[in-house]
Amino acid sequence: MHRPIFSLEVFPPKRNAAVGTIYDTLDGMEGLKPDFISVTYGTGRQADRTATARICRTILQEYGIPAVAHLTAQYADRQVVDAALDMFERAGVTAVLPLRGDAIEGRRPAGVFKHASDLIAYVHAAKPDMAIFAACYPETHPEAVSPESDVRYLKAKVDAGAGHLISQLFYDNAQFLTFLDHARAAGINVPIEAGIMPITRVGQVRRMSDTCGSRIPPAVERILDKWGNDAEALREAGIIYASEQIAGLLAEGVDGIHLYSMNQPVVIRRIWRNIAPLFVGGAAA
Ligand code: FAD
Repeated sequence: MHRPIFSLEVFPPKRNAAVGTIYDTLDGMEGLKPDFISVTYGTGRQADRTATARICRTILQEYGIPAVAHLTAQYADRQVVDAALDMFERAGVTAVLPLRGDAIEGRRPAGVFKHASDLIAYVHAAKPDMAIFAACYPETHPEAVSPESDVRYLKAKVDAGAGHLISQLFYDNAQFLTFLDHARAAGINVPIEAGIMPITRVGQVRRMSDTCGSRIPPAVERILDKWGNDAEALREAGIIYASEQIAGLLAEGVDGIHLYSMNQPVVIRRIWRNIAPLFVGGAAA
């Protein structure tokens, strides 16, 4: 009997944000004891390339929690990747989540690492001791030719060295469970964590749906319709929805839950209070 994995994602504050912002986020989540916290890697103009390593170091050294550093591929060449990996290593990071990353308008890809699997293979060869995570898409990646090809390329990421998958956010558990069946049937046998992003703002849900392809089921539409103009009510409904979604997934025996914290510790703490008792024992009971 094993306990399901519980992990969190945080993102580095913008370059011009107050220095204390990330500490407020991490302090606010203290006591949750996640198995790891992953830190995103920014590629936009506002992004600070050194922030991911610095925040990982803080998580490891000051909070005593394992950290996973994200790293994006398509605008990087080998030199940039080597520098990032060395920076991660100096920060004490032992796990990386290589991604292709999204296209940035007006910027030309470096053409070295076209797909996440290219970067995964490179990291695996360059740093054989680093644990490698990868992203997966229960509702199929928006650019994928078909759900089948998306799962095939996911298998390629695992074959290239990824030993742990984290899913894109989704609101409909049935979509995730069907995807799990397909992934397992394709021979993907590594842990697959379910990615949950609590609903806190209407704009955020619509934007994520547009960019990530996460469908908005009727139950979520009704929440947005009813409480979309009342920030507090919407936040409460979002906490309840995420908690119920997680309870449903844990009852199905999923490997783990990855909460997209959106650097909102109050929401995450409230959800954790609801779900913490469900993390005793695991699927295999
Ligand atoms: P890939 O695995 O390369 O897949 C991208 C597309 O290409 C898919 O449609 C796939 O089917 C297709 N494909 C894959 N391999 C091949 C191949 N060999 N030949 C042809 N087609 C192929 N973005 C950031 O900028 N920073 C972050 O920190 C970040 N963290 C994330 C964390 C998670 C858990 C998730 C789910 C997403 C994250 N993203 C992040 C967003 C991510 O960069 C985008 O979803 C991006 O569009 C795809 O990245 P990928 O690594 O999954 O790409």
